[in-house]
Amino acid sequence: MKTVLIADDNLASRELLRDALEAPELRFLEASNGQEALKKIQTESPDLVLLDIQMPSLDGFEVLRAARELNPPSGAQFIALTAFAMESDRQRIRMAGFDGYASKPISVSDLRMQVKRMLSGEDNA
Ligand SMILES: [Mg+2]
Repeated sequence: MKTVLIADDNLASRELLRDALEAPELRFLEASNGQEALKKIQTESPDLVLLDIQMPSLDGFEVLRAARELNPPSGAQFIALTAFAMESDRQRIRMAGFDGYASKPISVSDLRMQVKRMLSGEDNA
C-alpha cells in the first residue's frame, strides 16, 4: 500500500486528481493549503505528494523546501501541479528539486503514467 497526498487548495481539483488515480493499492490523503500539506508530510510520511504550486499559507515551493528540511527529511517524491506553462517556470520547478511536473489542465492519462512509474520505483533505478 502506497500513500499519496493530494495538496491543492481547489476542491474540484483534488477530486479530479483522486478520481484519476484511484487504485486499490493506493491510500489517499488530502490537504487544502501549504501548512496542512507540510503537517501531513511530517505525520503521515506519504510516498508521493501531488503539490499545487499556488496555495495559501505556504506555496508549493515553500512546502517542498520545508519537507526536505524536516528531521528526518521527507522521502516522498513530489510532483508539482501548476497552471504555469512557460519554459522558465518549468525550469524553476526542476531547479527546486521536484521529481515531476504536471500542468493544468491536468492530462489524466499522462499523470497516471507518471505516478505509476514513480511508485514502481523505475525513476529511482
Ligand atoms: Mg492552487
